[in-house]
Amino acid sequence: MAGSSAALPTGVVLSGVFATLGGALVARLSWRRGTRMEGFRLLLSLAATVWGVGQLMLGVQLIGGPADFPAAGDIVSMLAAPLAVAGLLRLPRRTAEPQAGLRLGLEALMIGAAGQMVLWRFWFRGPRGVPLDGGDLVALAILSCELLVLALLLVCAVRDTDRGVVVACTGLGTYVAGELLTTHAAPGAVGEHLGWVGAAVSCVVWPVILLGILAVDARPSVTSLRAAPRAELRRSVVTSVAVLLPMMLFMYGLLLDGYADPVSLALGAGVVIGFAGREVVRGRQAHALLDRLAEQAHRDPLTGLGNRRALTSDLDRLRSTGTPAVVLTLDVDRFKEVNGQLGHSAGDAVLVEVARAMDSVCQSAGARSYRLGGDEFAILSRAGLGESRELAERVRHAVRVGAAAVPGLGRIVLTGSVGLAVVKQADGHGSGDPLRALTESIEALRFAKLERNRVWVYDEALAEQARRRATMERRLALAVETRAIEMHFQPIVQLATGRVTGIEALARWRDADLGVVAPDVFIALAEQTGLIHGLGRLALEQSIAMLATPAAAELKVGVNVSPLQLRDPGFVTEVAAILHRYSVEPRRLVLEVTEGIFVDPNDRAVHALRELSALGVVIAIDDFGEGYSSWGYLDRLPADILKIDRRLTGQAGDARTMAVIRAIVDMASALGLDAVVEGVETPAAATSLLAMGAEFAQGWLYSAAVPAAELPAVLRRLRSAQRDLDQPVVAGTRAASGGVVRQHPQAFAVGGDHDVA
Ligand code: C2E
Ligand code: CA
Ligand code: CA
Repeated sequence: MAGSSAALPTGVVLSGVFATLGGALVARLSWRRGTRMEGFRLLLSLAATVWGVGQLMLGVQLIGGPADFPAAGDIVSMLAAPLAVAGLLRLPRRTAEPQAGLRLGLEALMIGAAGQMVLWRFWFRGPRGVPLDGGDLVALAILSCELLVLALLLVCAVRDTDRGVVVACTGLGTYVAGELLTTHAAPGAVGEHLGWVGAAVSCVVWPVILLGILAVDARPSVTSLRAAPRAELRRSVVTSVAVLLPMMLFMYGLLLDGYADPVSLALGAGVVIGFAGREVVRGRQAHALLDRLAEQAHRDPLTGLGNRRALTSDLDRLRSTGTPAVVLTLDVDRFKEVNGQLGHSAGDAVLVEVARAMDSVCQSAGARSYRLGGDEFAILSRAGLGESRELAERVRHAVRVGAAAVPGLGRIVLTGSVGLAVVKQADGHGSGDPLRALTESIEALRFAKLERNRVWVYDEALAEQARRRATMERRLALAVETRAIEMHFQPIVQLATGRVTGIEALARWRDADLGVVAPDVFIALAEQTGLIHGLGRLALEQSIAMLATPAAAELKVGVNVSPLQLRDPGFVTEVAAILHRYSVEPRRLVLEVTEGIFVDPNDRAVHALRELSALGVVIAIDDFGEGYSSWGYLDRLPADILKIDRRLTGQAGDARTMAVIRAIVDMASALGLDAVVEGVETPAAATSLLAMGAEFAQGWLYSAAVPAAELPAVLRRLRSAQRDLDQPVVAGTRAASGGVVRQHPQAFAVGGDHDVA
């Protein structure tokens, strides 16, 4: 360093102070943070400190008088270069890019060598044309280091998206470039001015550099796929310009000289090697990027499992290899409730946990899992059907466990339904078509979902059933729409007098293709498919319309309603509207419900029943005595009638059953409910029921359910039979003598030729 005035030493000392103190401070802070990437911060701040100490030494020496180059301070400062290089080379570790450090090094080498060629031709060799002395060689070494650091800083600033890196590298670059100029290129008076400029620059640049170093985010950076190509282009342009400009200058020098010396040739070779090496690395990076893109295209972003595309391509591969396999599909039961009640982020958390639990089970079994979308998953198992079924059970369990790991689900317990289908088995079983197996597996899943928390294996019988069900569903929808469902009516009589007091409406469906379908079958289907609402409306309308005809003038009509209808918010209003339309009093309508809905007193259906009861509509509990009859709740319900199940009446000969029926009849009368005994088929049954005090009855003994058009005739017949009775029986006489009633039930006996199934 050559300079005699006070300016230069002041600048040097100032920058030395800033660099030393700032570097030490940052080093101390980074030490405390202690993350993995702190190496960058630490090495760079140490480099600053070492640099600063060297500058301080130099400054002090300069204050005493001019110093020879290289002074001791210059040598110390030079030691900062390897530290800085080591620090900068750590930066690429934050990215997932392969060989990023190598590429960075090669690019710096390329640019550094190109810059060096210019320095060599125009500064050292060219203008002087004299052999180099020792001082020249040291100067050259220092310059080379500075150039390399400069090149490295340039590339780092361009390639990195982190603001801290960009600020620190740009600041350092500015400083090093200034150093280069002041120390080596500015003799005499210029040097003196630059000394002041250098001092001013130090005051600003060092704090900026150190803040930049502090601000660098040590966590791995995620360069988005969209940003990556743009950053790559910018980097390409800058490095190319940084190599090409000096090269052109150098070639201009060659032109002037007419020959190339060995050092220039060696430097030129350095540039070419750097360039070629970088191209190789870039090719590899592009390859790795494409691999990663392909990988991402086959991955579900939320759960990290393979996606539908991955499954399809794996199934394709399976077809060509023909190895045994089973396809499983899985669906989370009640997942919609989570999404609906707790929001989508809760839903996502469930999916992530379920996927995790499921995947670990699959991995231990050597199977691969996929997410098909929503809450639907698939698994490809290479095991036999037996083992795959076990896997399915374990996966079903894993869904429960995984979902339970999500906090805040409250009362929602999530389970999983699984469908299985064989692609091919070792014994040759299976179609061998993986895509078909996937469809079959989904078909089986549909069945599993009907019951929830189940595993279903696809087979042909199941498929046939599924097809029949699908056809029936279609036909039923059409029947409801075209009002092809017709209500038949069955009389309800007072046992003692034979007087008809009401009718029950029973739905009948005769389909052109399917023939007569039993109500138990199509009602259940309607409930599963939601068609019950349309069907129920039809039933109500036809039944209430019947009451408006003269034949049924005095009667009540019982209409069966499903809990699903009762839970429909518009149901009560709808019933009221239909009654109003036909001008029928509410007390003539009896709604028959099964007791199952009373299990939960908070059920919307129970509220609806209370409202209907308040309107004056009569409520009957249907099928009492079947399944789990509970007596405790009866007095708390809005019920008026108890219908004793026909399956109980069917065994009416049996003494124990008679005791049960008697107990129900007694209880009903104690609670003020009317008891209707269903399924009375024989005079004997009627006789004994009457003897035990049952008041109303219904059954084939009197009439089967008949079409509306035939009801007037049936009612006429029953009335005339009643008139034929020589002696009416007083209702409710429990101890009525057998002699009185023995013959009158026979008076009603007719062949129930309609609908008697
Ligand atoms: P349910 O309400 O218990 O209807 C009485 C069933 O007993 C009817 O069967 C009727 O035909 C049958 N039955 C009548 N007398 C006798 C008899 O003396 N002996 C025997 N063994 N059976 C007799 P059906 O018509 O097959 O209806 C079956 C079930 O389908 C009904 O049972 C009811 O739960 C449901 N259902 C029928 N129509 C409708 C409807 O419009 N809406 C709803 N939600 N359910 C309906
Ligand atoms: Ca009924
Ligand atoms: Ca019943």
